[in-house]
Amino acid sequence: MKIKLSDILSVANKKVDINASLEMTQVDFQNNIYDITDSSPFVLTLLNHGKNKLGIKVDTKLTLLLYCGRCLTELPEEFYIHIEEVIDLDEEKERTLIEEIYYVDKGFLDVDKLILDELFPMIPIQSLCDDNCKGICKVCGANRNDMDCGCDQSVMDPRMAVFGEVFSQFNLENK
Ligand SMILES: [Zn+2]
Ligand SMILES: [Zn+2]
Repeated sequence: MKIKLSDILSVANKKVDINASLEMTQVDFQNNIYDITDSSPFVLTLLNHGKNKLGIKVDTKLTLLLYCGRCLTELPEEFYIHIEEVIDLDEEKERTLIEEIYYVDKGFLDVDKLILDELFPMIPIQSLCDDNCKGICKVCGANRNDMDCGCDQSVMDPRMAVFGEVFSQFNLENK
């Protein structure tokens, strides 16, 4: 959802309440894609503060389906979004160049990007279902929290095993 700002910025002290909702259904964060499993419509309040300054106010929440970094168990987590700020659109023009995400572009405010800008710093780099999560067995793929599969955990990671083969071939060739 994109909101044209000129309608607000051209009228002194203009205040509008916009019924907004998210269009995105997923969030791409640090090469992980998280589904948004729950988000409700919300009111976005915009206020003309004069001299190209825009007041923004939003209160909403959404649920992201995070997952455990070790065993991949899904971990739905609720995030509360509270935005109450005044941005200077003259300064923001410069900010656009350095910021990866910016929510005001060519006179339009992008609601999804506005929410992402607030959400990103809140998403944990890695979530764990439990600090003691034992993760997934590298040998048989079982969730080691659910069962003790009994596999020898000293066995190499399959991805590393490729290197192991290369090394053993190398050794054979050099005999
Ligand atoms: Zn886990
Ligand atoms: Zn196993």
